[in-house]
Amino acid sequence: MVFTGTLATGWGATAVYAEYRRRRRARRRERYLEGVRFLLDDNPDRALEVFLGLAANDDETIDTHFALGSLYRRRGEVDRAIRVHQHLVGRPGLQPHHRDAAMTELARDYFRAGLYDHAEKLFLELADHGREPAVALAHLVRIHELQHDWTQAAAMHERLRAVGVPEQPGAIAHYYCELAEAAIAQRDLDLAREHLRSARREQKDFGRSAILRGDLARMQGEPRLAVQLYRRVVRRDFHLLPLVLPRLADAARLAGDADAFDESLRELLQNGVGNRSEIAYAAIVSGYYDDPVILDCVRELLATDSDLRDLTGALLPAGVQPTADQLRSVASALRNVVLRHARYRCSVCGIDSSTFLWQCPACKSWDTLRAVAALEFLPRAARPGSGSG
Ligand SMILES: [Zn+2]
Repeated sequence: MVFTGTLATGWGATAVYAEYRRRRRARRRERYLEGVRFLLDDNPDRALEVFLGLAANDDETIDTHFALGSLYRRRGEVDRAIRVHQHLVGRPGLQPHHRDAAMTELARDYFRAGLYDHAEKLFLELADHGREPAVALAHLVRIHELQHDWTQAAAMHERLRAVGVPEQPGAIAHYYCELAEAAIAQRDLDLAREHLRSARREQKDFGRSAILRGDLARMQGEPRLAVQLYRRVVRRDFHLLPLVLPRLADAARLAGDADAFDESLRELLQNGVGNRSEIAYAAIVSGYYDDPVILDCVRELLATDSDLRDLTGALLPAGVQPTADQLRSVASALRNVVLRHARYRCSVCGIDSSTFLWQCPACKSWDTLRAVAALEFLPRAARPGSGSG
């Protein structure tokens, strides 16, 4: 009897507990639907209140919280996303993988809100103790890039390289070049040289560091070395010609070797590295065109591009070879047009920029800005194939 009584009591307790759990589930479901209704009625604050009131210890509710947090963040309501994720992180008894995910989301919210010091703290903790250090380190790299803290960006990139594949392996060399440029601006040329050595260790045959080494050589009375370095850059990275042209001209002048400039352009043409139109365009973009070889290239550009010929027709008499002065006027007029438009475009995301930047401000890729093609002197709408004209 005693045994049967115990069994009966046990069954009774189980049944009561099952009923309690059923009711709790039903209540939670009701509250959940209420939250969804508030969300649909565009009452996000009430919805948030309801959802945060739900216990977040079972998988279903946790998933809802994550979905809600990411919804708020996507809608730009970062303060609400932060509340959801803070709530999750603060729940006692949360599984470690859920806590990691909640901390990552919270750090992303802080990042999105521009609260970089908060984001950095969380990402550092995740990089040290989290299950996906690569995700945290990639964010830390971005935070330091945004703050132009190139030393830290390089350190985080190194750590990222040790645990995964960085999105842009060449970025570290650019960080050292950024540091070298800052040192040059402070006239600390020894430090600049040290950073450039680090850049070269990261990436051999690196156009940007070669340009900076050329700049150092020019500043330190070694213009011949600068000429050599600049010539090597444009042979290898022709797209950097607009940056190199004025530097090369100055170095050749300092070296007392005016021919070195023209020689270098002829070398590019002879070896098929670039054509005359491309050189003319780079010269117009860079603002350095007072040179016979370049003016010859401008003449060729006008002869081959009918849009440009129409545009500049008023400046040149028909049927007569333009003089150097006339070509200079045309180049100068074209430069004025160029300066009013985007001169560079990112080859990855397509964003336009009026100035040259080593890192794309939109997609954050390094060394992807290229001078836009000559035809694009015309406004977009007037270009053939643009769909509107
Ligand atoms: Zn881009």
